[in-house]
Amino acid sequence: LHRHKSSLPDVRERTLIAIKPDGVQRRLVGQIIHRFEQRGFKLVGLKMLQASQDVLSEHYCELRTKPFYGSLLRYMTSGPLVVMVWEGHNVVQTSRTMVGNTNPAEAQAGTVRGDFSIHVSRNVVHASDSVERAKKEIQLWFQTKDLLDWESWDQTSTGDGT
Ligand code: UDP
Repeated sequence: LHRHKSSLPDVRERTLIAIKPDGVQRRLVGQIIHRFEQRGFKLVGLKMLQASQDVLSEHYCELRTKPFYGSLLRYMTSGPLVVMVWEGHNVVQTSRTMVGNTNPAEAQAGTVRGDFSIHVSRNVVHASDSVERAKKEIQLWFQTKDLLDWESWDQTSTGDGT
């Protein structure tokens, strides 16, 4: 089947997903990664780290004046995070849908927050909220060399990657 190139979806869009300290503590890392793999997205970067105040204040710079900002930074530095970059068609918007409403009480069942959390101060996961923000967040958390541009086997002519 020969489709014209311009009709193919843009599969290069990327987003930043972070499993927050409560997600790591509650052993939800595998289940959260599984959902993104199952949906069909491609993992291109992954690391576990203890976040610094500096990176977090940059990451949440738009929330500096919010009353919950101090407790948010304490929460986010309370233990390790698992930070990931996922790639695929419309991944930013689809990830937001998969993660669910910021407030778990409003999050639909079937979303990460709707299935695993009950309070906004412990909502398990972060997902970039726009393509622009995603680019900034990916640059903030990752060096370019740590993002792997690997080819899916199902896109190669032999089908087995060789
Ligand atoms: N947050 C909070 N209290 C609030 C609103 C937000 O503790 O009333 C925290 C929560 O962890 C949220 C993060 O601040 O995920 C960032 O808030 P934002 O509005 O950007 O929501 P998100 O993009 O994470 O859904």
